[in-house]
Amino acid sequence: MKGQRVVVLGGAGFVGSHLCERLLEDGAAGVVAVDNYITGDERNVAHLRGRAGFELVRQDITEGLSVDGPVHYVFNMASPASPIDYAKLPLETMRVGSLGTENGLKLAQAKGAVFLQASTSEVYGDPHVHPQREDYWGNVNPIGPRACYDEAKRYAEALTMVYARSYGVQTRIVRIFNTYGPRMRLNDGRVVPAFVGQALRGEDFTVFGDGTQTRSFCYVRDLVDGLVRLALSDVTEPVNIGNPREMTMLEFAEAVRAAAGGGGQIVHKPLPKDDPKQRRPDITRARQLLGWEPRVPLEEGLRETIAWFRSVAGRGPTP
Ligand code: NAD
Ligand code: UDP
Repeated sequence: MKGQRVVVLGGAGFVGSHLCERLLEDGAAGVVAVDNYITGDERNVAHLRGRAGFELVRQDITEGLSVDGPVHYVFNMASPASPIDYAKLPLETMRVGSLGTENGLKLAQAKGAVFLQASTSEVYGDPHVHPQREDYWGNVNPIGPRACYDEAKRYAEALTMVYARSYGVQTRIVRIFNTYGPRMRLNDGRVVPAFVGQALRGEDFTVFGDGTQTRSFCYVRDLVDGLVRLALSDVTEPVNIGNPREMTMLEFAEAVRAAAGGGGQIVHKPLPKDDPKQRRPDITRARQLLGWEPRVPLEEGLRETIAWFRSVAGRGPTP
């Protein structure tokens, strides 16, 4: 990305802020973060303000998007991403996945830029194929409580392919699996901040259902490396980026307890509707086409994440 000017939609979010940081480290000539802070936080990029080439623009990308000057890459990371967030913001989620994605694609088209769409493992729904390969079409409930997110992302993938096939835009699609790290919101409801917060406060771990459902957790630095490699490649088909180490939520609670050095008992809470029973990426495509695989072991990633949550313990909630 050296010498390139890059637009990051959703740049003040968890993943977007790490991406902005990495792009600047790589010597990007400019990084324009665009965000309306609906689930993000200006403080995530506060340390980048004043760095040469970094710009932060407050804009709802469903309402329009214009960026002056040359743009070489557009990364679309904008969307509420945690089940609690998109349950609270269902229309905003559908609109950013549809209208917001189209505005991002039009910007890339106008600038001759490469467009990278952040999709999700949720396009596989509650999968019948395990682990999930990119050629699996998924098992999504189109009218369930998660549909506003899953279907918006499926639409965004379809729209991205239309702009590639019919309008010649250079596109990339990444299917991101559960990712964690510093700058997640403590109260976003996802299992990593939930368990870490509970461990730090010495509270019980709230395991939904019987806790035998599985996930695979990727550290954010590994994810961002995959995003950059994909953007720089010529791979137009979707690519899974995630960590194939799979564990049950009961095992994950124990891993957080060990890393945080504490935590209470396991208490079971109702399993949310349509909660996928298993999830693990098949990353053969990322390995073969991008030379990518995750490097950060869970124990190390959890240590860094916990240290960060400790460091912001006294900080106010996201505005
Ligand atoms: P996040 O909520 O921290 O970041 C999303 C950012 O997009 C926020 O800063 C938010 O304010 C911004 N945004 C939302 N709607 C917008 C709009 N209309 N205009 C401008 N900005 C808007 O979530 P995240 O975890 O960083 O996720 C980033 C992307 O990665 C999302 O597209 C998400 O679907 C995808 N993803 C993340 C994960 C994960 O585990 N973190 C997994 C799969 C996919
Ligand atoms: N989960 C849990 N306790 C919590 C939050 C989540 O047991 O306090 C479970 C949730 O039911 C799911 C898994 O952890 O099976 C991952 O949930 P998350 O919301 O992080 O992401 P998802 O993969 O479901 O989008």
